[in-house]
Amino acid sequence: VTDPSPPAVDRPRRQEQEEASSEITEVAPGVLRLQLPVFLPGLGHVNAYALEDADGFALVDPGLPGERSWQALVGRLDAAGIPQRRVHTVIVTHSHPDHYGGAAQLADGSGARIIASEHFRVWWDPTDQDGEELIDADPDGLRERIEIAVERFGQRSPWGGDVERPTDEHISLLAANPAEAIAWLRVPRPTHRVAHDDHVTLAGRPWVGLFTPGHTNDHLCLFDPTEGVLLSGDHVLPSITPHISGMVAADALAAYVRSLDEVAALPGIQTVLPAHGHPFHDLPGRVEAIKAHHEERLAHLRAASQALGWASVEDLSHQLFSERSWGSMAESETFAHLEHLRLSGEAVQRRDGGTLLYAPA
Ligand SMILES: [Zn+2]
Ligand SMILES: [Zn+2]
Repeated sequence: VTDPSPPAVDRPRRQEQEEASSEITEVAPGVLRLQLPVFLPGLGHVNAYALEDADGFALVDPGLPGERSWQALVGRLDAAGIPQRRVHTVIVTHSHPDHYGGAAQLADGSGARIIASEHFRVWWDPTDQDGEELIDADPDGLRERIEIAVERFGQRSPWGGDVERPTDEHISLLAANPAEAIAWLRVPRPTHRVAHDDHVTLAGRPWVGLFTPGHTNDHLCLFDPTEGVLLSGDHVLPSITPHISGMVAADALAAYVRSLDEVAALPGIQTVLPAHGHPFHDLPGRVEAIKAHHEERLAHLRAASQALGWASVEDLSHQLFSERSWGSMAESETFAHLEHLRLSGEAVQRRDGGTLLYAPA
């Protein structure tokens, strides 16, 4: 999920929005790129990466839940000459559905282990136990589960805005198609949780797990010091800035900037493999551009806050984003920036009923 930045009218399509190509390319030694279709605002595909070693393959970020993405994944694996049973490891960079969606199903078929950050957690997780239970859910039970999940989606945001929730029609549609509903409700249970600086062997060489919070609270990048490769997930993308959510941490923006500085300082990076868009090479340059974007946004927000005085997150988000991007994502990003200003002493906050208001300090 990415930042709904205001687009210029004739802005060219971003590379992250390109439709999934069926072409399979080797993007680093022993690393294949398989593009899977994504049907989310601002995104046309997600990159799954297959890393080969003597025992088989590890697959990073196997796409959205549901049949359409699964069929694409099966087709791509087939075209790449990768039998499902040879996938011994599935790696999930973070708890967004375009990254974890295919993981559980793939692990079912191949017995693969599932690796994620030690902090991995899907925030609306409708189960407290093993996801397997959903498979046996009777139709009534399934509908109940869908409603619990939707209820969590629909919880009011911390700043008092409404979070968009699926419609009743959508719920009925899911309940009428149990296989699809189960696929969407199911969240992967990692069998191996990686801590910061832990080593993981992939493509026959050691990779270092990097805990990189900001975009989510559980984001994992993987660094290969031998070949100078970074699997960057959604942490650093080539031409769009990852969404920074105010829902996830006290100062998500500060955490994000720290995580950006950390990857920019990695020695010997030759190739960055992002979850959306094409491989790129200038990691420090891209990190600087993303940081500059957030500095600009903070400057814009300071000015808007000066002009408006006490104002809600929604009102301030309308100053920061163009109308077509208004909504819960724009508000959540605005909230993250406001909290950053508040925690650094530049803004103050008060509550008016259920709504948070901010003003310059
Ligand atoms: Zn993503
Ligand atoms: Zn994401």
